Amino acid sequence: MKNYLLTEEQIIALFNAAAEHYELYVPVNSENGQVFCWEKTARLDKMVPSNIQPTASIKKFFFPNSEPMFGFKKEKQEIELYQAAASVPRLVLGVHSCDLGSIKVLEALFKDTVDDELFREKRQNTVLVGISCSAKDWACFCSQLEINSRFSQDGDLFITPREEKYILSVTSAKGEDYVNKYLENGETVAGFTPANDLGEEETFTLDFPKIKEVMDSGFELPVWEKFARKCINCGICTFLCPTCHCFDVFDEARRERGARFRCYDSCMFPEFTRMAGGYNPRSAKAARLRQRYLHKYKYFVDNFNLIACSGCGRCIRHCPVNVDVRQNLNILQHSGSEGEDD
Ligand code: SF4
Ligand code: SF4
Repeated sequence: MKNYLLTEEQIIALFNAAAEHYELYVPVNSENGQVFCWEKTARLDKMVPSNIQPTASIKKFFFPNSEPMFGFKKEKQEIELYQAAASVPRLVLGVHSCDLGSIKVLEALFKDTVDDELFREKRQNTVLVGISCSAKDWACFCSQLEINSRFSQDGDLFITPREEKYILSVTSAKGEDYVNKYLENGETVAGFTPANDLGEEETFTLDFPKIKEVMDSGFELPVWEKFARKCINCGICTFLCPTCHCFDVFDEARRERGARFRCYDSCMFPEFTRMAGGYNPRSAKAARLRQRYLHKYKYFVDNFNLIACSGCGRCIRHCPVNVDVRQNLNILQHSGSEGEDD
């Protein structure tokens, strides 16, 4: 892995150099200072901060809230299908390790299981620039998932602030191409050892193999009912989660033209599993919450050997009724074989 020691001016120049060819996205805070998101900018004028985790996750760049899959038009008796707009090259700055780590989960489905053209094109067209996280907040638990908030090789480039300068690590072939094209007079550094926050003292420890064991032990555990009591099925946790990927498909048409769209759906919505004949296997709130937990911490492990959670904490931070997945997992791991609290 090649590492460069760059000044802030050099870093800014590196990303502005490609502004003609790439859409540039940076994390910004909204006017009231409460909501953080990535926004398109024409030019970078200062280095992005390293303590911002945008409210919306990185998945919006590969799997947006709503997107056209293809268009259609009818002429006489013929139906013609045409491609949705092609994606443009993008460079996303300031991505934290939790979001970089979550992309593996989406890839297991949209790349390795099916070749999803919409996802693939956007993923290929996007350069991801990670940044070392300088301030975890009360809801973060990425290190419990063995994600190092200070460094990641899951993107294309990674920035680590070092005193008044920055270490730029090249973490993929795409990142290397970018640097070869746009970096001028970069000084490489030898022997850079990235910081590591794994093993730092945590106030709690989640034992994911143990949690899965309890989940494996039975489907009808009493804890699901208890966990579901507070939930109001708003779906915020699933929409903001970087690994949740359920979607619905619908057609919008006017006269002879239209498009097929896909948009986020949520397993927390009561109608999510309602079938055409009216039967709903998850009509109870507890059944829906159980599905979300089993999908993340059991089914995905069974199917892909991956936990579908990166510990980003968004579902905790933004739940309107304070459902905390960590507390629930902690109860699960300490529950007996019948899923009862010890
Ligand atoms: S954000 Fe909270 S209330 Fe809303 S669906 Fe998720 S757990 Fe339930
Ligand atoms: S389940 Fe919660 S903590 Fe885990 S990745 Fe999703 S939003 Fe983040």
